[in-house]
Order: sequence, then C-alpha cells, then structure tokens
Amino acid sequence: MTQTKAGPDIAAGRLPEDAYSENFSDLHPLLEQHEAQVEADRCYFCYDAPCMQACPTSIDIPQFIRQISTGNPDGSAKTIFEQNILGGMCARVCPTETLCEEVCVREVAEGKPVKIGQLQRYATDHYMSGHDETPFSRAAASGKKVAVVGAGPAGLSCAHRLAVHGHEVTLFDARDKAGGLNEFGIASYKSVENFAQREVDFVLSIGGIELKTGMRLGDNIDLAELRATFDAVFLSIGLGGVNALNKENESHNGVLNAVDYISDIRQADELSQLPVGRNIVVIGGGMTAVDIAVQKKLLGADDVTIVYRREQDRMNASKFEQELAQTTGVKILTNAQPHALVTENGHISSIELERTVSLADGTLNGTGEILSLPADMVFKAVGQTLVRDDLDATIALEKGRIVVDADRKTSLDDVWAGGDCVLGGEDLTVTAVEDGKIAAESINAALNA
Ligand code: SF4
Repeated sequence: MTQTKAGPDIAAGRLPEDAYSENFSDLHPLLEQHEAQVEADRCYFCYDAPCMQACPTSIDIPQFIRQISTGNPDGSAKTIFEQNILGGMCARVCPTETLCEEVCVREVAEGKPVKIGQLQRYATDHYMSGHDETPFSRAAASGKKVAVVGAGPAGLSCAHRLAVHGHEVTLFDARDKAGGLNEFGIASYKSVENFAQREVDFVLSIGGIELKTGMRLGDNIDLAELRATFDAVFLSIGLGGVNALNKENESHNGVLNAVDYISDIRQADELSQLPVGRNIVVIGGGMTAVDIAVQKKLLGADDVTIVYRREQDRMNASKFEQELAQTTGVKILTNAQPHALVTENGHISSIELERTVSLADGTLNGTGEILSLPADMVFKAVGQTLVRDDLDATIALEKGRIVVDADRKTSLDDVWAGGDCVLGGEDLTVTAVEDGKIAAESINAALNA
C-alpha cells in the first residue's frame, strides 16, 4: 500500500458513498445483443482488411464480425482467442482508435469506424460467461519443461501457447497474484468485476501450467538456476522500477509514484477509504499519467492538473485518453517541467514549474519563467525502468532493456523475452500478448528440433 500520511488537506471519503460505484463503473458497457448485431452489420467484410493488418495480434476481424452477424458469438470468440487468448482484456484496454478502428474503411470514408473493440468484447464476454475453459486442448505431453517468469499479459500468453503444445510450464510471479499490469496497472473503470483474475483463471484452465507467486527474479529465483532446471526460459518481467524527478524533497510525504497508487486503487476493497487531496499535480504525458489523473478526479479531488513538458500532440497518451481526461475535468498544462518541490512540515504543499519551449531540432529548453501550483499530492508518471538484478552479467541489454530478435530470443540460446522489459516494447497489452505468442512458437520449434 502506498504510504500517504495525512497531509494538510488529504482525507478519505470526499464523495457521497454511492458516487464511487457510479464513477468507477465500466467505461464501455457491454453491447446488448441487438446493438452488437446492428454494429456487426455495418462491417463491409473487406478483402485484405486494413483493420486486421493493423491488429498487433493479427486477429481475423472480418471473420469474427461476420460470425457475430450470423448469430455465432461463440465461434466469433474462438476466432479471436486463436490469435489472442487475452482477447477479453484487449477488448477493454486496446487503444483501438489508433489501431484497427483508425484504419477501418468506415472511419476513413465517414469518420465513424465499426466498433471493433466493443464487438470483440461482446464475443469474448459471451464465450467466457458460458465457458470456464479455453476452447483449446493440449497436445500429447512433450516431456519438456519451460519456466515463464512474470504472469502479466506476455507471460500468460506464452504459457498458454506452450501448454497447448504439450509442454509443462511453471509460471512465476513476484506478486501475490497473477495478471501483471492487467491486475495492478490499469485504471479501475477499464476492467471491472474482477475481470483480470477471471481471465487468468480462464488462461490457466488449459492445464499444464503451475502458477508460483511470491517468486521474484534476482531475489528468491535466479536465471542460472532456472536455466539449469528448465529446458527453456521466457522472461516477461515488465518494468519494476520507476523514474525519479531528481528534485530536492522528492522523498517527502505526498510525492508518490503513480503506478503504486494505481495499484492501490485496483486492490482497494473500499474506494471511499483511499486518501484524496484537493489539489493534485501529475507529472508525465502517457497513459499512466491519464490513468492516475482521471481516477483522482473520480475519487473527489477538486483540482487535478497533468503537467507535460512538451506540446500536447507529443503526449504518449492517445487522443481518446487525453479527451477522457479533459471531459472528466482534468486540466492539461503543457510546455512546463518540474523546477522545485515545495514542502511544509515535511509534506508537499506546492510545485514550482518552469515553462519550456521545443526548438526546431527537437531539443527542449527551459525558458526561466517559473509558475507555481498548489499541490497536496504530486504523482510521478515519468516512465519505468527494468530492474536489472541478476541480468546485467548474463544477458545482452541495450538502453536498459533486454535485446531480442524477431523470434523474441535473447542473447542466450535457451532464454526468450517479451513485453515491456524488451527493447522496443510498446507498453501495450496487445503487443505483449503477441510477444508471448511469438516466443512460445519459437520455443516450441527449438524444443522439437
Ligand atoms: Fe469491417 Fe472496417 Fe475491418 Fe472493413 S476495415 S473489415 S469495414 S471493420
């Protein structure tokens, strides 16, 4: 739990009790059957469908939409799960507006794409509400053992595909439950009713996967031991460290890591018990910054400002996420960067920001102009880092990430990696799922060679 000592203006229960469930209800409620039918009928079932080419997991989108259209949602879900076993979560969290829906011919022609993400959710939710097990069966036992380290999207995807191929998988995770960022790292209104854990159970239902929690690489397991015990290893350890602002007073009360607080919100039994400030400042421009800012507003904070050092069109958060923040009442202050954290009695009280300007060559300069925002909580959302214990001496790293080839193979013959921990990782659930899938096929080929 994040340590947030009561500051001058931090309190729990800022809203009436019933406001919490309303504010944190499903962002995109499930389509009704007739709505799904109408939406599916909008699809042109394009040949060489651009939506399918834009999907990182290459789901056959026209095929699954046609199956909905013909009254076969379970068949549709199977089409999705064949390419993406975490299709249910991806339907909730994928930035479809910059992937499949952006290139949908109906978006290009009319500015109104087929709602591919919501149709995917309709099909996968329909299947999972009627079946506890995945629609796949395991091949005959191969006698091979694979360690998968990290039970987030990449690890779950890899473990499932390996299990389908008949291998015995041990799935390690440092936390007390599986799911990774799906469980601990996304805004609560994107995945309600414990969906992340239901999806973990669904993935594990394939059999042949032993989940071991509380096992952290470099702590109570190490890579050398795993390589000696297993026929292959897949690393999907994510990014466990958090970048600092490197300012004085950063360790004072009220200066917090956004990822920790997002996890607290996800795991909270009672949202009304979480401490909320009146004036919140979030430093960063990505999805994490938006996730924490919107949720603080929904928890009852009066004033929430995202501070981003460049222009708004350079923010990593998608346009949809930026609009979500602004329609929720979050302000976005651009071209400003932290200058000083001001504290009173050991607690943050305000933040001084320096105005910035981007030069033609892309460099960012401070202008020297200083402004101040009152703040009883400041959240750092300026990126995460790979925790490298146990890796530095053994495996090729570049720019602080694990180097992999197109098959997600590392510099070690028997070790593969995927998800956020690898160089070029895109910080998306769907690309992590694809990494796990590609690695599993490569591992399977190597074990059968
Ligand atoms: Fe259907 Fe749009 Fe994909 Fe064409 S591009 S197949 S209309 S979803």
